[in-house]
Amino acid sequence: MIQRSYKYRLYPSKAQSVVLTEMLGAFCDLYNAALQQRIEAYRRQHKTLRYIDQANELKAVRTVDERLAQFSYSAAQQVLRRLDKAFTAFFRRLKTKAKAGFPRFRAKSRFDSAELRVGDGLTIRKSKRLAITGIPGEIKVKWHRDLPAGATVGTAVLSRSAGKWFICFQIALPDQVVQPRDGASVGIDVGLTSLVATSDGNVVKTLQWTKHAAKKQRRLQRALARCKQGSRRRLKAKQRLARHKAHIANQRRDVLHKLAWSLVDRYALIALEDLDVDRLARSMLAKAVHNAAWGQLRRFLEYKAASAGTRVEVVDPRGTSQTCPQCGDRVTKTLSDRTHICLCGCVMDRDVAAAVIILQRAQGMGPGTGLRSPSQRVTA
Ligand SMILES: [Zn+2]
Repeated sequence: MIQRSYKYRLYPSKAQSVVLTEMLGAFCDLYNAALQQRIEAYRRQHKTLRYIDQANELKAVRTVDERLAQFSYSAAQQVLRRLDKAFTAFFRRLKTKAKAGFPRFRAKSRFDSAELRVGDGLTIRKSKRLAITGIPGEIKVKWHRDLPAGATVGTAVLSRSAGKWFICFQIALPDQVVQPRDGASVGIDVGLTSLVATSDGNVVKTLQWTKHAAKKQRRLQRALARCKQGSRRRLKAKQRLARHKAHIANQRRDVLHKLAWSLVDRYALIALEDLDVDRLARSMLAKAVHNAAWGQLRRFLEYKAASAGTRVEVVDPRGTSQTCPQCGDRVTKTLSDRTHICLCGCVMDRDVAAAVIILQRAQGMGPGTGLRSPSQRVTA
């Protein structure tokens, strides 16, 4: 089965959005109460409560809590699952001695989503509107694309982001056997000044709006910092900042989707570097990597490729920017060297040279003769 998610914007009426907010509030209270219960159980009896313990009490809780009772039962169960997941992750971190971070109480203003089961807490009506347990009437949806035919819709995540409402359907599609196709191959390097560079010499420019967007973001952040704590102006400034961030994220996603499609469309083999994005993001390259949105592009490429019969090969990233694609010699470059110049006469854009190396590695060939394996000659 292939898992996909399809997200749509909701347009609830004023009255509906009030109740939706109440629903998230009720779930937030449930989350906090369940967290409190776990803490107390441990403190008093040294007992670790599990999901099943808390889920068994849910019926009783709903008989006394009218507000919670009007909303979907399965969605309330999911709230308890969410807390359970937070604890599981906490215990896992304890074991690995990572910074543990005990699960926290959540603020209503930040409790922004609920998981609903389709056909139970949420139904898609004939009118193509949504009915959600506890919400009056039917909610208007902007179906900007159809749900795929033959899909099984399991759950849907209702979310609130910067004052807008969304529904994200989690869908399972039957595995398609897609024949790998023939065609051209390409290596792709994450550029530093470019977004990506391809082994056939294309350099996709860093998205133009990023500089302006970053500038605007800093301005909005400064404006927020000047507002007094708890004031109405601060709330407004916060909303403006959140809207701006959501807008940038949308634009970026859109650009990356298009780029991924065009690559998958043109090539039968795509070679990528296996970059540890988390580690890079913490290093000095943080900004460039974030802007390049490498992780996101890689995810898009991988799943689009799977349904198009394109192969994605991930290769060892070590030394890709320091190796000559023509003779295989090591050519040391600093971050500011934009051009690859080798004694063998090979001159090309630095990122393009790296992309060629990546492609060579994916094809199991070394530079030049193609006889030696690339891993033997890379030292960095
Ligand atoms: Zn060379």
